Amino acid sequence: RKEKAKAERSPDRLRSPICCVLGHVDTGKTSLLDKIRRTNVQGGEAGGITQQIGATYFPMSRLRTQTDKINKDLLLDYKIPGLLVVDTPGHESFSNLRTRGSNLCDIAVLVVDIMHGLEPQTLESLQLLRRSKTPFVVALNKVDRIYGWEPHKFSPLRDTLAKQKSYSVSEFETRTRSTIAAFQEQGLNAALYYENDDFKRTVSLVPTSAITGEGIPDLLMLITQLTQQMMGHRIMFTPWVQCSVLEVKAIDGLGTTIDVCLTNGEIHEGDEIVVCGMNGAIVTTVRALLTPPPEREIRVKADYQRNKVVTAAMGIKISANDLEKAVAGTQLLVVHPDDEIEDLKAEVQRDLESIMGGFATDTTGVHVQASTLGSLEALLEYLRSIKPPVPVASVAIGPVHRRDVMQCAAMLERAPEYAIMLCFDVKVTPEAEAEAVSAGVRFFTADIIYHLTDAFERHLAEAKALKRADAASEVAFPAVLKIVDVFNMKSPIVVGVQVEEGALRKGTPVCCTVGLKADGTTPLVLELGRVTSIQRNHTDVDKVGPEDPPVAIKIEGDPSLANITYGRHFDKKNKIYSRLTRRRIDLLKAEFRDDLSREEWICVKKLKGVLGIE
Ligand code: GDP
Repeated sequence: RKEKAKAERSPDRLRSPICCVLGHVDTGKTSLLDKIRRTNVQGGEAGGITQQIGATYFPMSRLRTQTDKINKDLLLDYKIPGLLVVDTPGHESFSNLRTRGSNLCDIAVLVVDIMHGLEPQTLESLQLLRRSKTPFVVALNKVDRIYGWEPHKFSPLRDTLAKQKSYSVSEFETRTRSTIAAFQEQGLNAALYYENDDFKRTVSLVPTSAITGEGIPDLLMLITQLTQQMMGHRIMFTPWVQCSVLEVKAIDGLGTTIDVCLTNGEIHEGDEIVVCGMNGAIVTTVRALLTPPPEREIRVKADYQRNKVVTAAMGIKISANDLEKAVAGTQLLVVHPDDEIEDLKAEVQRDLESIMGGFATDTTGVHVQASTLGSLEALLEYLRSIKPPVPVASVAIGPVHRRDVMQCAAMLERAPEYAIMLCFDVKVTPEAEAEAVSAGVRFFTADIIYHLTDAFERHLAEAKALKRADAASEVAFPAVLKIVDVFNMKSPIVVGVQVEEGALRKGTPVCCTVGLKADGTTPLVLELGRVTSIQRNHTDVDKVGPEDPPVAIKIEGDPSLANITYGRHFDKKNKIYSRLTRRRIDLLKAEFRDDLSREEWICVKKLKGVLGIE
């Protein structure tokens, strides 16, 4: 199938490239997309842009209203039919636009705020782009914020720059230079696009403003030029359909539909299609190929336009039977007369199986739910990579329903700290929310993987702190003390001690050994009580170690220990030990492993012997 698709590519016919927008928060990604969309609407010509499902399609006629402003000099031959721009910017939509390890995005715009330079998510975006080998250009946005900048709406950058005062030009140049230097630090050559004579090795910077539209003609021109020059092969049209399911949605009057991105080929009403399903492959027939009507806001509810045929690249809503269990983030295949349906079914299920099969569910663990197979995979990978890894007991794709919550609630009895649903980029139905409240299951929802995992890590830290606080009242830290002075013989016992091993903390229960039990081997332990104060020169201290000078400690116990007297039951010849027990050692290991030094662990081992702990 892939081979055939390759063979039938034609250099004379290109498909529309697909463009994504990435960058740090607040750099102006959304504004830039809005501005690009409005730019074209403002032209007001007939047959305008079609705002598609999850992506906006710009036919070439539309792009030209901007790019012609620059092409006067460039005289570029326009070969692509248009440009499909993905509507939701950011890492996640970029990662979701993946099937079978390949990225649907042909070219990306990395947005950088010219006033801020490279920021943390800029670097994350850079990593994503490098890993997926996606070519990109940098929009150096917010040029209008440069001091004294005089806006010229939708002007090509060099035209507006020529009209700026010298101090604005000078600030522009300084900021551009420092961004170029920052890219260099990341091992990347960058240059203003009109000074870039090596597109293959040097990334182009396009100064833009999402407010004034300046530089937008340049940005669109550059994308057109780069896709035509550098990826001719990748964007050659082939009649073989390449298509990915982006979202599964129930729509009033249509039932369950799938929003897809058609990356190559042509899809027709009535085509037989094969789609990956949660419970096995789905074979169905395209009832309607829907696109929103032209010139309408994508998010406004509107009647869809029906198409007999749609050509790549395009975002389409497909209406067909039996799509309820379709899995977002997988590929869609169109059946040809000589295809074996069983082969196609196996092919669409392969990704799901490799992800589900590659992940052995733990018996105790959290529930993970994500919008697409790709985001589920990313989240599972992440949970596996953090230390300690987060155990996962169950997974699902798509909106959270009541039954998902009920499944997770089963964890309440086994491991309540894991009765948690990590939901990434998914909707939660009201019934599911109500069920969670009544059952006591906690939700962590977020649209950004980092936010989700940050919140979850905070929860784990809190759960750990609670456990530690509980354990702290019960635990005993190891110490061996030598009595060097006596201030009060009984209730409370106050003695001067030198810590010989371990470290003494306030609150530690202590004891002595006074010979052996009748069996002649088990030590006879004399409980003394707890260390309720530690003082040096009449000042309180919380913790002392062997390197510290002696301290005075007060030991108090419950009334049964009131008669324990220094000189009668124990004296200077006895060492005072932390009162370790099997349970306390277990708590130390479980909750305080990293708090104890190597010497303290050696002391634990010694006390086990001294106190006869199995
Ligand atoms: P996103 O988080 O990257 O999508 O950023 P937004 O598009 O939401 O923009 C963040 C803020 O920056 C908003 O207040 C925008 O109005 C503002 N902004 C975006 N682009 C520009 C620009 O080119 N110039 C100026 N002056 N402000 C901008």
